[in-house]
Amino acid sequence: MSSLPVLDELRLSGVLPSPKGVALAVMELCQSETATLEDVARVVMTDPALSGKLIRQANAASLGGRPVVSVLEAVRRLGLAPVKQLTLGFSLVDQYGEGACGNFDYQGFWSHSLLAGLAMQSLARSNGMGPPDDLFACGLFSGIGRLALATAYPDAYGEILAASDRRDGLMLAAAERQRLQIDHNQLAAAMLADWGFPAALIDPVEHHEETESGHFQAGSRGHQIYESLRLSVCIADLGQVDEAARHALLPDLMRVAGRVGLDEDELGELLDPLIEQWHEWGDLLNVPTHQLPSFAEIASAPPPHAASSGEDPTLKILLVDDEESSRTLIRKMLVESCGHEVQLAADGRSALALAVDSRPQVVITDWFMPGMDGLELTRALRATDWGQVIYVVMLTAAASQAQVEQAFTEGVDDYLIKPVAEVELRARLRAAWRYVKLHDEWQRDRAQLKRIASELAVSNRKLEQAALTDALTGLPNRRAGMTLLEQAWSASRRGDQPVSLMMVDVDRFKGINDAHGHAGGDTALVAVAATLRAEARKDDWVCRVGGEEFLVICPNTPLPAAARTAERLRQAVRRQPIAVGDQAVPVTVSIGIAAREPLTHDADSLVRDADKALYAAKHAGRDRCCLVRGGKTHLGPA
Ligand code: GH3
Ligand code: MG
Ligand code: MG
Repeated sequence: MSSLPVLDELRLSGVLPSPKGVALAVMELCQSETATLEDVARVVMTDPALSGKLIRQANAASLGGRPVVSVLEAVRRLGLAPVKQLTLGFSLVDQYGEGACGNFDYQGFWSHSLLAGLAMQSLARSNGMGPPDDLFACGLFSGIGRLALATAYPDAYGEILAASDRRDGLMLAAAERQRLQIDHNQLAAAMLADWGFPAALIDPVEHHEETESGHFQAGSRGHQIYESLRLSVCIADLGQVDEAARHALLPDLMRVAGRVGLDEDELGELLDPLIEQWHEWGDLLNVPTHQLPSFAEIASAPPPHAASSGEDPTLKILLVDDEESSRTLIRKMLVESCGHEVQLAADGRSALALAVDSRPQVVITDWFMPGMDGLELTRALRATDWGQVIYVVMLTAAASQAQVEQAFTEGVDDYLIKPVAEVELRARLRAAWRYVKLHDEWQRDRAQLKRIASELAVSNRKLEQAALTDALTGLPNRRAGMTLLEQAWSASRRGDQPVSLMMVDVDRFKGINDAHGHAGGDTALVAVAATLRAEARKDDWVCRVGGEEFLVICPNTPLPAAARTAERLRQAVRRQPIAVGDQAVPVTVSIGIAAREPLTHDADSLVRDADKALYAAKHAGRDRCCLVRGGKTHLGPA
């Protein structure tokens, strides 16, 4: 976790959200070593609302079984840590239902947080990533840094929110860091740490908005919580948006669900009861919730614009005309009867300057104007990256067919004859709207594809890595070892440098397995692998090529040097008895060594030479090194 100067200031100033009254007392009590469940229950009971919520949570957690009716039972069933976290959550929801930051939607924030918390709780029940109540708190507080920034810096944060897309957490965090020297994820992590949350929950909260899971080791608990948190936040987003945005969220939602192993049906089975719970909890905590169709209906609904063609959507329009009366008239139609957002310009040049800043979706421009005319404006727009997708409608008093043709050639999308009739204007703009929507969708799809492509690239790299690594010891496996050997062989041939090879085999390994079980044998293998890796030189490759067989490739190494290294490895292994359970098991290895000689054909014959030496070492009584030179074996010391 980051330690930032601004964090200490915030802590000292006392402006961060914190519990008060009974909740504070409960938290402090839970922190103390000597507190008993009875003590905690006694304090909780002084707050009837809190008591009711905890009893309810205890019943929700027990899923069937005998219902909990007393506070003491609830505290017993939940345990101290969840009681502390839940009390904290309930208290903050109560106290921070409104606040001073104008652009921060306090109620929406808690509504979102509550659904994220419940989603984490449900996921924990099915995937066992941890105690469901702990994970409820983890989801509930995953966005607490946003509330904290809104509370600590109401004005500055309001401005940041006005200029950012709050669903794009990473962009928002960047804007926060730039202006406030801290972002909501860093702050959330610090607050959770102050509240005594375990690091195992804090870390995923701090990093859950990162699209790459690189911070967590694949398969670790942190990784599982990270993926689950991403899914929970996605679900919580779904609960906050209207139908159109819901549809746009679906691909992301399914992808994130896929990463925790849920297919579409299973996602529906998770979601529908979850939304029910959300409504119940929303009533209890006085937090607004929204009605959602069942997930099956959401998933199968057609894209909303196809269905809602009856309504006039709003467009961002730049209207350019040198005649003031015409400007005023058309603007009135656009704003009053169609509700579009309209900017005005009196000539091409100022229109272009405006467009650079405001990026309109549609430009309606007069053809003939002093200075830069409508055609020149169109040409200038089309010459920019962003201007190519603007829908351009040309206004003209009277146009010949040749002029119309020229206009379309220059990149105009449509034209209207002046004076403009309102019905016609409306109809033409519907085409513009369809175009804009299609373009938006296309861009979203493209962004999605890019994201998927980069995720695929990352997981391919990981897969490739996994395919070349031995899972037990983390060493390169047989396949990787053979490739490395071929490479070392070729380099040695090309540069006329020596290359040596050791074949290392654990002695009487079957006996270790028999005496200590297969798991004991595995422990021994891991320990031998670590010793070999630690004792070999940095440039040597240590690979596990069979059950208890290791290959050590020594590039640029003549036979005598390899023999000395081999002897060092052998001594190192026999010096360190391996702890299996509570026993120290002595382990030894035999090593065969060979180097490339003028008559060595290829890498395979080098392996055969090393094998032959290994066989001789075993035959001579094991725990020995043996090298092969000119086809003859030479035993090292016993
Ligand atoms: P030697 O001194 O002649 O090498 O005797 P050894 O018992 O080591 O010889 P052998 O090669 O016959 O036996 C190797 C044993 O290693 C057989 C197999 O059950 C065991 N083994 C192979 N792979 C693994 C593994 O991944 N884990 C464990 N625990 N045992 C393995
Ligand atoms: Mg063996
Ligand atoms: Mg063997």
